[in-house]
Parts: sequence; C-alpha cells; structure tokens
Amino acid sequence: MKSILVIGGGLVGAACAFRLQQAGIRTTLIDPGNKRRAASYGNAGHIGAEQVSPWSTWGNVLRAPAASFAVGGPLDFRWSDAALVLPWVSRFLGACDAKTVARGRAALSSLLHDTMSAWQLLARDVSAPDLVLPHGHVTAWTSARAAERGRQSAERTNWGATTWRDLNAEELARYAAIMKRPPREGILFSGTGQVRDPQGARDAILGAFAAIGGETVSGKVTRIDANGALTLESGTVPRADAVLIAAGAWSGALMRQLGQVAPLISERGYHVQSPQHDWPEDLPTTVFEQHFVVFSRFSSGLRATSCIEFGSPDAPGDARKWRLLERRIADLGVRFSSTPDRWVGSRPTLPDYVPAIGRLKRAPNVLYAFGHAHLGLTMCAATAEIVAALATERGSTIDIAAFAIERFG
Ligand SMILES: Cc1cc2nc3c(=O)[nH]c(=O)nc-3n(C[C@H](O)[C@H](O)[C@H](O)COP(=O)(O)OP(=O)(O)OC[C@H]3O[C@@H](n4cnc5c(N)ncnc54)[C@H](O)[C@@H]3O)c2cc1C
Repeated sequence: MKSILVIGGGLVGAACAFRLQQAGIRTTLIDPGNKRRAASYGNAGHIGAEQVSPWSTWGNVLRAPAASFAVGGPLDFRWSDAALVLPWVSRFLGACDAKTVARGRAALSSLLHDTMSAWQLLARDVSAPDLVLPHGHVTAWTSARAAERGRQSAERTNWGATTWRDLNAEELARYAAIMKRPPREGILFSGTGQVRDPQGARDAILGAFAAIGGETVSGKVTRIDANGALTLESGTVPRADAVLIAAGAWSGALMRQLGQVAPLISERGYHVQSPQHDWPEDLPTTVFEQHFVVFSRFSSGLRATSCIEFGSPDAPGDARKWRLLERRIADLGVRFSSTPDRWVGSRPTLPDYVPAIGRLKRAPNVLYAFGHAHLGLTMCAATAEIVAALATERGSTIDIAAFAIERFG
C-alpha cells in the first residue's frame, strides 16, 4: 500500500494518520474541521489503563435504575432516538453473558497493558514528551459509608496491570485546601495518567503529521464503495490505495454503505470547564464516585465531566445535564466559573464495549478503527500502532481477532 485516506480527525484518526505517514504511506486525513464536534475535544483526558472490564455486565444492568437521570444520576436515554437506542440495548444485553464479557476483558487487557508506554512513545515521536502526566488518578468519597462500599468494590475489581493504595492524610489535606466538601477517603492508582490537554494532544499529533508530509483535507465523506472509493460532500472524489474509517460515532453509517453491520451508539457525555479555579497542576484526575463527576485539570482550565446519554451524535445538548454538573460542583464546593464553557460530545460505543480495529473482510482495502467508547483517548496510541502494522502487513504484536467488526455479523 502506497497511499491511504483516513476518515475522521479525532484522536484515533489523528494518531493513526501520524503512524501511517511515519511508516512511509502517503496519508491524507479527511475531517470536516469542527474541533468541538469530536469526542476527542471535550473528554476527561484520563489514560484509563485500569478499565479492563467491559461495561456490558449484568451488574451494570442492575445498577442502572439507581444511576438514572430521573433520580439525579448520570444515565439517560433520548427517547426521541428510541429507534437507534433500543436495538443497541438489545445487543448490549446479549453481550452481558459471561463468555462475551471474558472475551471482552481479555481483548481490553491486551490493548490496555502497554497503553501508558504507547502514549509516552507517541508523545515523544510528535515532539511533545511532556504531553503525558503519568501521575495516576484518584477515586474519592465524601462519606464513610460510600468509602467503605467503594473500597470493597475496588478490592473485588480486576484493574489490569495497574495498582492502587489509600490516600494518606497529607494527600487528603490537599483536597481540603481547595473544596468545601473534601473527600474523607480516596484511593490513588498507579500505572494510569492523563494528558495535559485533550485538544492540545490532538493538535500536537496533527501538527507532527503535517510536519512529516501528511495532508489534511477539510470535508465530510458522504459515500464510500466496496473498492474504498470516496465521495465528499463537496463532490470531490479523492483516491488512494486504501481507506481507514476512524469517524468515531459516525463510523456506523459508513460501514453500512459497505454492507457491514457496525452497531454503534452515541454515549453522549457532558463537560463544563472553568478558566478560574484553584486545582493544582499536579493533583491528578479525580473521580467523585458518589457525585458521578470527574475533575481534570488541563492547561486550558479545570474541567468537570459526567453523564451517559444514549442517543444520536447529532442531537443538541440537554441543558439539564449541564445544570446537574454545575449543581454537583457547587455541592462539592469547588471554585468554578459561574458561566463555564458547556460542551456535549459522543462516545462511540459498540454493544460489547470492545473497539473495532482491523481490515474489512468484504472490502480488504478498507481498514477501520472506531468504537473506543469511554477509552478512545486512552487507546488511540496503541490503536495507531496496530493500524500501522496492518497497513504495512507487519503483523501486530497483539492478537487482534477479538477486535474484528465481523463479530457482529
Ligand atoms: C464526557 C466524555 C469524557 C470522556 N473521557 C475520556 C477519558 O477520560 N479517557 C478516554 O480514554 N476517553 C474518554 N472519553 C472517550 C473519548 O473521548 C472517545 O472514545 C474518543 O475521543 C473517540 O475518538 P475518535 O477519534 O474515535 O472519535 P471523535 O473524537 O468523535 O472523532 C471523530 C471525527 O470524525 C469526524 N467525522 C465524522 N463523520 C465524518 C465523515 N463522514 N467524514 C469525515 N469526517 C467525519 C468527526 O467530525 C470527528 O472529528 C470521553 C468521552 C466523553 C464524551
């Protein structure tokens, strides 16, 4: 393969484009260019190497009612998008059986095992070695009862290659200095980290891609055929030897044109971000589990993220979700702007919570990398290594059979 067109310039598409161009393949990245539309713009920036267990489990099904938005939780469905959501839920329930979960855990574990080092290598190769902060992350609880339940659950959970320990008094005191309702207890993970800024990371990768001769075209792909020939909304017909579909939550529609089922749903997440805050630079990403809110300090400000809202990736944001987040921040007493930046974006999620990475059997010059759900930032660097290995026919260092999209028929 001498040339390739990459559809989608989120973190997954950008990292793949960089590695493909670096491998000597003439690479053109196609993206409409609206940065904020991508999930890669507004995520929590957490390199979640600990999340080896798929979310599709009966335990999560049983916990769903207590987490629902109707009772103050983060979980919601856009009922106006029921035609999209219900078939996906049916497949999700099918993926909760023990065998599928075990397969998913093995697949995620293989991708997450070296994800921190894959990110550090990518950061070095795009000349931004300090992009990755390997300082772990914290899960914290503000009541003794929640802490007891949370710790018991942490003890039972498989966290892959990462480890955790209790926060000490000095570490807890750092929270007491910046919030009115600080955690009583918390645990600090090692082997995880965060990026300095998600959009900053994407810009650094795209900048390095351009610097080594990669081309970016502004446009939206409207048609793809079985030979991988593309048509853009503008009518332009770019040509290359191969195509990579990496269009996040929008990838399913392109796969459908190729006759391939790719049951993606958009798990919409929300953030608010404040330029004014007291969060120190070295205080890691912190999950306030009972409050369903994650704080991440970036170079662009303090960001609070929450919510899982199943629906269309193109629907407008629901103002009630931002208000919920703002109430949580006020409850915790974290200094924040009264007019924060509000954002909604789409996690691209397959029913078994395992991404789709591979070469399409029915159209072998089409590669694909999408469906990274809650872990697209975490797994983009490792995914790009696999895609470059596939494109150059080098063979991947991990077994990628479990990521084949054909598992959905
Ligand atoms: C609130 C929230 C918090 C999150 N926190 C984390 C976290 O802490 N850690 C983590 O690992 N993950 C996190 N995620 C998930 C992560 O953001 C996503 O998995 C990841 O960004 C997906 O990247 P992507 O490149 O596949 O898709 P996207 O970033 O969505 O990019 C897809 C791109 O494709 C373009 N596109 C779409 N259709 C077309 C077309 N037809 N032609 C051309 N281009 C097209 C889009 O415009 C977009 O630019 C979070 C997500 C949310 C919403």
